[in-house]
Amino acid sequence: MKGDLVSAGLKAALKQSGCPICRLRAESEQRYIRMLLWESVNDPQTRDHFIAALGYCERHTWQVGLVENEQFGCPLGNAIMYEHLAGKVHSRLVAYALRMKWTRRPLWRRWLTLLWPWARRRLSAAELRPQEPCRICQIGERSERRHLGWLLQHLSRPESDLRALYLASDGLCLPHLRQGLALASLPVEAGARFLVEAALHRLEVLQRDLSEFERKNAWDYRHEQKTVAESTAWLQALAFFGGTLPERRNSHD
Ligand SMILES: [Zn+2]
Ligand SMILES: [Zn+2]
Repeated sequence: MKGDLVSAGLKAALKQSGCPICRLRAESEQRYIRMLLWESVNDPQTRDHFIAALGYCERHTWQVGLVENEQFGCPLGNAIMYEHLAGKVHSRLVAYALRMKWTRRPLWRRWLTLLWPWARRRLSAAELRPQEPCRICQIGERSERRHLGWLLQHLSRPESDLRALYLASDGLCLPHLRQGLALASLPVEAGARFLVEAALHRLEVLQRDLSEFERKNAWDYRHEQKTVAESTAWLQALAFFGGTLPERRNSHD
């Protein structure tokens, strides 16, 4: 059943624009964020991870905040979570300041610091180091690994209908091609080869369109009409090298 879901998700993503793995990663992150905001803000396990990770990474911090404010209408979940986190980080900073001997202490202790100053030589604060990675990044990475593994496995079979679907799609971005090849083992070599051949073809088309775009921008050829593919080749290049940007959604679906 789980395999069917992965397969259905991949097929649906291949029928839409952009890198399918970027899209599926963004979708699983969005699903997690909505679930978090609907029902897990006060869940102890979720909160423990949030506190141990000192929040989320930069990108997901803003995503969670903006999703709740824009789609849920009230940033209460964020207020609850960050009130807790602010207290934790405050006490860690107090511990750091204590360790650095920056807090008020008895006169004799201050003399001691003057006599043995080497303990303060480094300013880096181990107290501010997260103990866990961003939970939403973890969810996204799990989705990437699962879908890439599935894709490779199915593309390894010459008779798979996924091959035609893949060739008709925008294909993997370079970061996901790299990751897919890193995950691939010898039993799925045919799948890895299929991905590389598709990427080679895509790069050849891209190079041709980019070079035509450049040529037609020259003064002598300015009257030649650019095709749609040539005019949008720079966007294709950004999507291939930088991956697909997650879409901003305005609805709850
Ligand atoms: Zn991608
Ligand atoms: Zn993250």
